[in-house]
Parts: sequence; structure tokens; C-alpha cells
Amino acid sequence: MIAYDITPIDLHGHLFNVSLTIEQTNDEQELWLPNWIPGSYLIRDFSKHIIGLHAESNGHSLAVKQISKNRWQLARSKHPVTVHYQVYAWDLSVRSAYLDQFQGFFNNTSLCLAVEGQTDLPCELHLHAPPEAPQWKVATGMPRKNGQAHSWGSFRADNYDALIDYPFLIGDLTIEEFIAHGIKHSLVLSGRHYADTSRITADLAKICETQISLFEEAPFQSYTFLTMVVGSGFGGLEHRNSTALLCSRKDLISAHQYEMNDNYQTFLSLCCHEYFHSWNIKTLKPQAFLPYQLEKESYTEQLWFYEGMTSYFDDYLLHTSGIIDEKRYLKLLGDTLSRVERGAGQYQQSVTESSFLAWTKFYQQNENAPNSIVSYYAKGALIALSLDLMLRLQSDHKLTLARVMKELWHEFGKTSIGTADDTVINWLNQYPGIDISDFLKDALYNKESLSLVELLQNFGVMVQKQVPVDDNSVGGKASEQPARVNFGAKYKASPQGLDVLNVYHDESAYHAGLSAGDKIIAIDHLQATEQSVKRILERYIPGDTVTIHAFRRDELMTLELTWQEPAKSSYVLSVEQPDKLKGWLTPSG
Ligand SMILES: [Zn+2]
Repeated sequence: MIAYDITPIDLHGHLFNVSLTIEQTNDEQELWLPNWIPGSYLIRDFSKHIIGLHAESNGHSLAVKQISKNRWQLARSKHPVTVHYQVYAWDLSVRSAYLDQFQGFFNNTSLCLAVEGQTDLPCELHLHAPPEAPQWKVATGMPRKNGQAHSWGSFRADNYDALIDYPFLIGDLTIEEFIAHGIKHSLVLSGRHYADTSRITADLAKICETQISLFEEAPFQSYTFLTMVVGSGFGGLEHRNSTALLCSRKDLISAHQYEMNDNYQTFLSLCCHEYFHSWNIKTLKPQAFLPYQLEKESYTEQLWFYEGMTSYFDDYLLHTSGIIDEKRYLKLLGDTLSRVERGAGQYQQSVTESSFLAWTKFYQQNENAPNSIVSYYAKGALIALSLDLMLRLQSDHKLTLARVMKELWHEFGKTSIGTADDTVINWLNQYPGIDISDFLKDALYNKESLSLVELLQNFGVMVQKQVPVDDNSVGGKASEQPARVNFGAKYKASPQGLDVLNVYHDESAYHAGLSAGDKIIAIDHLQATEQSVKRILERYIPGDTVTIHAFRRDELMTLELTWQEPAKSSYVLSVEQPDKLKGWLTPSG
């Protein structure tokens, strides 16, 4: 048994106190902390937040030597050893730990050292109240050993791998429980909010029912949506029987707001995404993650499947649950299609490469990302869409991707076999009459655009390519005033003018010599602001040339820019022949 005593000891100093008790240490016992958290593929070096680590045994202090950035070695002792340390927690994200006088959140990847050679032992976590806030509530998916529901007390995990999959949220929490498919679920909110929790739990119940029905079984006995509500922010991380979410106050629908809106839809889609991961990455997972190597990068080319499938189903299941109509769904699909098609990234990288290099590229995107990286989420979702439509067509609308997901989960997930790189392709090949091998190999390993237009036409969905209003508005919504010329850069307004964020290769801004980080102060000798730029752009036609004044660092540049023809980079989808949908979507009429 490994025991962790955790106390939020200093709310103003953002410190958790942790005492780790090991009943029996090995010779030269080593302790280590993960360098990354499963689900977020970036080395984060959580150990940098550990302060004042020391050990004691049998009433005496015990020597500890730090042997690498995240490893410590204890001197020999034949008695139980307790290791004390503090963890600085000031990262308001779902990935590490946060503590102030209003709330706390932690992942055990940030707080709990692993005991080398003993990670298979059961763990107990004793969570103590902060002296200043004994009334705070506690929410977690970790099985409780003692104490009332939502109170301080003791929790138990089968082993270290399970321990680090149970995040905790503490504070003056709003907690609303609901039942889906006979299973207890909880929506937990921290932070200031005006959420209509009855409406939200009713919508979540529909999503959860739909997913459990899809897989015919849930891989958990209860499920908790741990949600930190902030002014602005967005993120989620999946866990075995919970998810940690960060959302903006405006994402939560409030009372008297009856209509679905884009912000709330985005929140529900995030919930749907993380919940789907309970099956697709938390139980069904790449063999490379069995077990996770938590001190170094774990490479896999399969994130196109685990994130792409999940991204396809997060929006699609909102539609099949009856939460959004087919028009809203097709707008979301158009957004994804536009995003993938706008940059040159998909011609530089395959989705399998993007997955493999997630650690250094996708998770460390720089200003050149639109020219060099393809998202395994977005393009993976389009591959999933293609598969769903192709399976339906080739099986006379009998086989769906949802059924394939269910069967893959029962075969390789529930059994803990895991997936090899060719598992999915081999599995699809065994369905009679299905021939998708060539398509899937091309889609996964080549750097080309997918041909979705004809595929969607088979389902009565028309795809219109349109010129967007500007490069900041590329998406699935029809533009009322298409741009007349192409700027070829994304920008945001600043007090000085326009800050260039990304420059697309081989387009107007690129040829003029503009780069990310430049500050445009004037176009054709007129001050450039977010308001004026649209009017300025309306004055020109492709081929016209203007003078641009911009700062690069502290040096003023005078550049000549020749406007190019704008590309039709927005994909707008609509149902033209509802009878051809054949159950893929349900038209609202
Ligand atoms: Zn995900």
C-alpha cells in the first residue's frame, strides 16, 4: 500500500502539501514524477513545481538525493519511509494543478510521486481540508474509502496508473447529478457562473444515453464532468470515469436562454468529445500506450484514429442525440473542411506523421503551422466522415462507422489488447463487400486532399466553395460579402494597427514580404485598423498594387503588395435531396 496525504496548505501561496508513506522501501529506492499527462502529448516536466522535498524514517530524517529532473533516490531504511514535499499549483488548465482562495484543481500526475518498482500496489489518497476553507466540497471520480459524498476523506486506487487518472476539483462547487442509462453522472462547476444546470444536465443525459447505447456498455460505474468556469478559456482532458473541463462563462447556457447558440453548442461538443474518449483512448488504446511511458515521449501514429474518430463523433452525436439539427451539424462539418483545406499543411504532412510528431509539432505550433502542419483532429475527423459514408454506400446503408467503433471496442478495448498500426484497416477488410483499403492507406500515409464533395453528393448534400469575407472568417457559413482580393494572412487588431499572426505561403502578403509578428500601420497611406481594413480591401481588384507600412520589431518597412484573386476557401454544406440521407442525418424538415 502506498499512501498520499494531500492538504491544500497555502491558498495565497498556491501550495499543496504532500506526504507520501511507503511501508517497505527497496534498497536505493527511487521515486519519480511523470513528465507528461496522458491525453496531452507534450513534455511538461511537472517536477519543476516540487519544493522542499525531504524524507524521514523511524523518527529520523533520511537522506534523499535528486538524480535527475524528475527522480529522487532514498537512503536505505528497514522502516516505513515518509517523504514530504510541496507542489506549487498556479496553472489554471486541465493538465496540471491550480490552487487559490476560491478553488483548487489537481491531477495526481502533478502531486503524487511514483514509487519505482511498486507502481502495481494499491494507493490511498487522504485529502485534508485547508484550514481556511473547511466548507469546500470535493469532486472526483476516484472511488471513496471513507467520508461523506463530496466531503474530505480517503480515496482508493488499484495502482499508480489508476491513481493518476482521477483528477480532483475542490471549492464552493455547484453539483448536479443525473442518470443516463441507469448510471449516475454528475455535472460539477467551480467558479462564478450563471448556468442553467437543469438544462445542461438534460442535454448531457441525451449525449450520454446515445453513447452508451452506441457501445452497448459503459466502461465506468459512474461519471463526473469536472468543470472550471472562467472568463475566457477552453479545454478538456479525458479520464477513465471523469473529464476535466475548462470553459468560458458564456459557454454555459443560462436560464431564459432557450435557443441553442454556438458557444453552448461548443461546450456540449467538448463534453461529447471527452465522454467518447472513455471508450476511445481510455479503454481502446494504441498498444504503444500499454502501459504509458510517463517519463519520455510515447510515439504513436494512431492519433488520427483516437482524436479524429472522437472529433467526428463529438459533433455527429450532438445531431443524432437530437441536440442540433442537420443545418447546425453541416455548418460544423463545413468549418472542419474549410480549416483543413485553407492551409498547405496537409500537403506537407500526413495525418500519421502529424500524430507521430504531436510532441514537437502539433503541441508546439508556431506561426508557420498553417503552412507546415495538418491537424490529426480535423483531418482525422474528415477521414472518419469519409469512412462512415463509404461503409454506408458499400453496404447498402447497413454498416455504419458507429457499429465498427462498437465492435473494435469490444474486440480490442474491453479485452485490453490495444490496437497496432494496421488493426483498423485489417478489421474493416473483414466485413463482406467492404473495400476501403486503398482509400484508407492513401488517406493515412499520403499528403493529399480528400475528395469529399462527390461522397457527400451521394447523400444529397451539396458542397459550395465560397470566398470568405476575409482570412479570419474562413468557415462553413455562407459569406454575405465575399472579399474581392486576397490578403493571404491572418491578423488581429492592436492599438498600433494590425498584428500579423500567420502568413500563407505564396499569397499576397507573402510576396509583399510580410511576416508573422509584423505590425501593419497603414495600407495605401491610410491607417489600418480592424474596422478600416475591410473598407480598404473593398477598393481594390486583383492585380492592383498598394504600399504597406509596417513595423518589424522597431524598424519601419515600406512594402509593395499586389492583390491576388481570393480563393474559395469556405466550404458551405446544405442538404439538397433529403431522401438520399438514408439515416446518416435526420432532416428537420
Ligand atoms: Zn480528444
